[in-house]
Amino acid sequence: SVLVQADYKPERLLQMLRAVQAQYLHIPQMAIEQLAAALHIPRTQIIAVAEFYSFLHLTPQGRYDIHISDSITDRMLGKEKLLNYLAEKLKVKVGQVRADGLVSLNNTSCTGMCDQGPAGLVNGYALTRLDHSRIDVIVQLIEQQAPLSDWPAEFFAVDEPIRKPGLLLNQPFNSGAALAATFARGLAETLAEVDSSNLRGRGGAGFKTALKWRTCSVQAATPHYVICNADEGEPGTFKDRMLLDLYADQIFEGMTLCAAIIGSDQGLLYLRAEYLFLYEQLQRVLQRRRESGLLGRNILGRDGFDFDIEIRMGAGAYICGEASAQIESLEGKPGIPRVKPPNSVICGYQRKPTVVDNVETFFAATHIAIQGGQWFAEVGTPQSTGSKLLSISGDCARPGIYEYPFGTPIEDILRDCGADDVMGVQVGGPSGTFISSRELQRRIAFEDLSTAGSFIVFNSSRNIFDIVQNFTDFFAHESCGFCTPCRVGTTLLKNQLQKIVEGNGAAVDLEELSELCLIVKNNSHCGLGDSAANPILSTLASHPELYLNQLKQSSFTPGFDLDATLAVARRMAQRDDDAAHLSQVEN
Ligand code: SF4
Repeated sequence: SVLVQADYKPERLLQMLRAVQAQYLHIPQMAIEQLAAALHIPRTQIIAVAEFYSFLHLTPQGRYDIHISDSITDRMLGKEKLLNYLAEKLKVKVGQVRADGLVSLNNTSCTGMCDQGPAGLVNGYALTRLDHSRIDVIVQLIEQQAPLSDWPAEFFAVDEPIRKPGLLLNQPFNSGAALAATFARGLAETLAEVDSSNLRGRGGAGFKTALKWRTCSVQAATPHYVICNADEGEPGTFKDRMLLDLYADQIFEGMTLCAAIIGSDQGLLYLRAEYLFLYEQLQRVLQRRRESGLLGRNILGRDGFDFDIEIRMGAGAYICGEASAQIESLEGKPGIPRVKPPNSVICGYQRKPTVVDNVETFFAATHIAIQGGQWFAEVGTPQSTGSKLLSISGDCARPGIYEYPFGTPIEDILRDCGADDVMGVQVGGPSGTFISSRELQRRIAFEDLSTAGSFIVFNSSRNIFDIVQNFTDFFAHESCGFCTPCRVGTTLLKNQLQKIVEGNGAAVDLEELSELCLIVKNNSHCGLGDSAANPILSTLASHPELYLNQLKQSSFTPGFDLDATLAVARRMAQRDDDAAHLSQVEN
């Protein structure tokens, strides 16, 4: 019944499964059968999608389905103790559903609230600033079976602390101004302005925006599509959350002017599941734009320019931030990155030419269309023009959103956010680079430290292995499983690192860890595998002495107790003499 209103198309499968899950707390067999029949696709295809996404389940979850964010910043704020406290109070084990079906409790990857953690989700809605007293109230509300609408509003409050606005955040904006400027100047001329601005993609890869738009615009195949990648899942990143919350009009306008330039009449915004709380307000902004003639038919009275935007939700998969994986997800499939070439700008959504750009890229394009390329290019460095939004969290007095000209040194940023006694900074999240306190003159720029926006500060009280293990676990959990070097390699990295950190490693284990890093990095299919070893590689480079100090002095130490493992064999052979025991360590 939840699907009566649904548009039965295979590309909407993920949206339909989300609706079924919300109603039945899982994807029941009868829904799989009905969807398979209605969409004319095999049952196995539906099961594959349900199994791929973290927030979809084939078995029932609790009526209150709680996920606690396992980002390193949440851990630094005491998340582990809070999770155990919550589990104890609710009488449910982490990873399980309580016997009465009332509640389920799980860990989840970063929920995009690193500036206001410890954070979590209840039935998909963001919870912020969790502490013992809030957990006491939450437990009471759950036991009373109070609807979420009766929970205190402050539990769901998401602040958007803009600590340092710059080039873009300081710009005034009137709805339609960028489109009016685009039409007045001309489409080709506006593309030339985007070109001269040297705007590069803000999702991290830094591909030149004008080149992408131009390449798409000249493709003969039609239709063309515009996709806004709002799936910022890199732990420590939350600047797109703020833009979607406070600047959605500019983002949709950027998508619309892109559509005018590339000749598209359909846009899609892929919103990460953790930002469900933004869904309704984004729909309202879209509706206002339709009513103002800024979306729909003949936009701004321009005959024949039709364009509209649909929001589609993700379902908990970090890999869907990768453009081709996101397109697969938008087509209702598991989010497995495609083999390239062809690039999505030639063969993207529905195998048609598609521009996929980050939220911040569309935001910047809107202001470039108004102010011109020169205005933007005057800021930053020659290779990295304009400004960059940073999401700053961790050990600093003022976490939040900061906007800097590209080329700003790390030490200036640390001063602004009130970070003392800095041991290191993770720039670009787990897939980025760990910068030690000896390297703080390095700069935010594509030619030095490239980042999608995550900036996590660690002071000297932090254990570097807690950080590296958290990041390595994250990649092992988020690997999509498509290719062996990443699927197996990330788990081997996790285990080998654990062996060393727990003091069971010898020199040979460290060598093996380094070799494994290179195997995963050089043989994986997509950026996740390519960067999964970065936390280990960058801390090995900056702090080799810490790894060496963990090693035992023997040349080889097994990762498990060999003699104990043979106990069963000894019992079966009915012998327990000295010769039936093995020495654990070869000296
Ligand atoms: Fe999937 Fe990892 Fe391979 Fe990327 S590298 S396709 S995430 S298994």
